[in-house]
Amino acid sequence: MGELSDRELGMKRNITRRDFLNGVAVTAGAALMPWHLLAAGQPEQSPDYYPPALTGLRGSHPGSFDAAHSLRDGTFWDTAGAPQDTGESYDLIVVGGGISGLSAAHFYRKTAGANARILILDNHDDFGGHAKRNEFRVGDAFRLGFGGTFSIESPAPYSKEARGLIEELGIDVASYPRYHDAKLYRSLGLRSKIFFDKETFGADRLVASPLSFNGGEKDYIASGKAEEWKQLLAEAPLAPQAKSDLDRLRNEAKDYLPGLSSMEKKAKLARMSYASFLRDVVTVHEDVVKVYQAVPQPLFGVGIDGVSAQDAWGLDLPGFAGMKLDPAPGKGMNRDAIPNEEAEKYFFHFPDGNASIARLLVRKLIPDAIAGSSVGDVVLAKANYAKLDSSASPVKIRLNSTAVRVKHVGDAAAAKEVEVAYARGGKVFTARAKNCILACWHVVIPYICEELPQKQRDALASAQKVPLLYTNVALRNWTSFQKLSTNAVYAPGCYHTRVALDLAVSIGGYECARKPDEPIVVHMMKTPCKPGRPAREQHSAGRIELYNTTFETMERKIREQLARTLGAGGFDAARDIAAITVNRWPHGYAYEYNSLFDSFWLEGGETPCEVARKTFGRIAIANADAGAYAYTDEAINQAWRAVGELKS
Ligand SMILES: Cc1cc2nc3c(=O)[nH]c(=O)nc-3n(C[C@H](O)[C@H](O)[C@H](O)COP(=O)(O)OP(=O)(O)OC[C@H]3O[C@@H](n4cnc5c(N)ncnc54)[C@H](O)[C@@H]3O)c2cc1C
Repeated sequence: MGELSDRELGMKRNITRRDFLNGVAVTAGAALMPWHLLAAGQPEQSPDYYPPALTGLRGSHPGSFDAAHSLRDGTFWDTAGAPQDTGESYDLIVVGGGISGLSAAHFYRKTAGANARILILDNHDDFGGHAKRNEFRVGDAFRLGFGGTFSIESPAPYSKEARGLIEELGIDVASYPRYHDAKLYRSLGLRSKIFFDKETFGADRLVASPLSFNGGEKDYIASGKAEEWKQLLAEAPLAPQAKSDLDRLRNEAKDYLPGLSSMEKKAKLARMSYASFLRDVVTVHEDVVKVYQAVPQPLFGVGIDGVSAQDAWGLDLPGFAGMKLDPAPGKGMNRDAIPNEEAEKYFFHFPDGNASIARLLVRKLIPDAIAGSSVGDVVLAKANYAKLDSSASPVKIRLNSTAVRVKHVGDAAAAKEVEVAYARGGKVFTARAKNCILACWHVVIPYICEELPQKQRDALASAQKVPLLYTNVALRNWTSFQKLSTNAVYAPGCYHTRVALDLAVSIGGYECARKPDEPIVVHMMKTPCKPGRPAREQHSAGRIELYNTTFETMERKIREQLARTLGAGGFDAARDIAAITVNRWPHGYAYEYNSLFDSFWLEGGETPCEVARKTFGRIAIANADAGAYAYTDEAINQAWRAVGELKS
């Protein structure tokens, strides 16, 4: 991206970042994980085992996916050796320790009783699935970041069951304004900006943005204030025609599809990307398309080339003011694009995102593992990983364990038990249970559960995942942000298309940074999409890109981007960066159906996720994939359904 040298960028600085460079421990500076204990048995029992404090490449971290990928490639059983029987017998085995798996265990205990024996397996070194916690220490300051799931929020209202669980965990969603200092950044004169990069727009320039972006994951575009539009049009390095088209797009209330009814217009818009709408219908300069290109990425994992114009209308993107569209949602709209006032009010962000929900669930399941009793005190409570898989507890969470085969013992219709084989520390073990819930990613299930009907396996395999990169950079201070009057930057042409200071949330004794000379976490987001191709193809190409990019390459891109964006504010990447944690999610959001690429979504009828989630004998299927809906509430809803479908 730029011409700054490695030395200027601080690539050689001994920050707490290189502890797990692509899986190999190479430097000190942060706690090193006792991986050598894995082959011997129980690294989690070591007092040094504490994943939230690890920096470097996290999310789907090195070592977490080898067994699953080897299964996919058909090589796993060549070298696995015969499974060793643990002799363990459970009421329920759950595959997947994300919110769905943890919720399933919780719901199951409510019907089967607190003494029900449950084993939860997860291939990662930490629980929570996408809901992951990142911790940083910078000098005396302790800072939290969200490594995945940002907040309690959903485009549609939470169901009775999902809301009930949130309440049972003690989270009072309505109390959120008490913890969030919503005025902090504004009181310091900070606001959203756009960074135009020279590779895409011909010059590096940071300009006031009328496109609202609050630093969250699901930020929406808004029309912005007149003053910001004026500044954008004056300062942006855009062609004069592009500026005049931007102005026209915003102000012109033209019906671009005259002579059609609202329904006919929506049907057309549902089959045309927003990029095509801008380019071919509104006929704007190509720079305008580039400005908007990355806007929907946080929601859909693709840009405006992969989002329908109808969805863009729902998201309040410009161009529809004169179209006289009936406000009711159109056929084939993505649920993210259907505004819902009640849902919008239901929002809560913990400093570690929904990792706090995962931690509250773990506390309910295994009280010894996370001390305390309130929602507030969970924020600072240190999890005791040695207690997760303890013989003293009826519920066990076994990390670093990939389920590799799930099958009924005997014929599925009559079987009384399911046997689950899992890989851990280079060995394969088996355990049995009366029932099993697969709360893992649907694409994995056909490889581990071969007895499912072919139609169901095909539907499961079609559950594409949306790749994402959630990067947290701990800075020693944020004076450069203050000097440049910004807290959140939209960067449509850069590696990370969003850069934002952490939301100012203080809760349960945790204090966020309030003064620019204090350490802070900066969150950066990337969706590795390949514009122009169908969404599913973009996601699989992006997934490969994420797996193939080294941490060193990502680190250089992070440092360059921050240096170029914030350099004029005095930012020095070599001096100011204290730690970097890149949360790599090649298998990120559940794929949500898209009217541009999924004809069934427009036509109606049974969707692939309904076929995929059918219970088979004693094996039920949960995960957000089961609802094709990338939200925490869906992970909970599907857990609830799966538990309800289990045989007694
Ligand atoms: C980066 C990111 C940000 C998000 N932000 C939000 C947000 O702000 N708000 C919101 O509501 N939703 C958000 N979502 C979506 C939300 O996180 C998910 O819908 C929800 O947490 C999914 O939970 P889950 O348990 O269904 O799946 P996951 O969290 O993916 O958990 C499934 C677990 O199963 C494991 N697994 C897979 N295969 C195996 C195997 N063979 N053996 C053992 N374990 C296995 C996986 O590794 C994973 O740990 C976000 C998602 C991502 C990726």
